[in-house]
Amino acid sequence: MMMNYKFVDTIPNEIKRGSIYISLKYNTAIHKCACGCGEEVVTPLSPTDWKLIYNGKSISLTPSIGNWSFKCQSHYWIKNNQVVWAGKMSKEEIIKGRKNDVKAKKKFHDNKDNESQNKLVQLLKKLFFK
Ligand SMILES: [Zn+2]
Repeated sequence: MMMNYKFVDTIPNEIKRGSIYISLKYNTAIHKCACGCGEEVVTPLSPTDWKLIYNGKSISLTPSIGNWSFKCQSHYWIKNNQVVWAGKMSKEEIIKGRKNDVKAKKKFHDNKDNESQNKLVQLLKKLFFK
């Protein structure tokens, strides 16, 4: 299945199946679940969520899209505008994946804290060791 991508300022009211709407303003992409169940899938774009790869002709989203909160439980990638189906994951794998998400988020925020702390230390050093 192919996905048409559309860069938009704001997310339209009507999400057409087979289209992915990308708002750089809101760092979000939205599309209707590729299985056809009609659920809308929101994929925030951030260092700890999804990354959008745009090569001028097609888009890819990484990591994969796992709709665990929907009845369909569908799991797929969007690679070069193409929906690539992944195998069904077991419950254990889903739980493991979620744990990794939490870990990645924590790591990211810890690093951010460290960064600002380092900056503070450097500032203090400048002030006191001139
Ligand atoms: Zn679905």
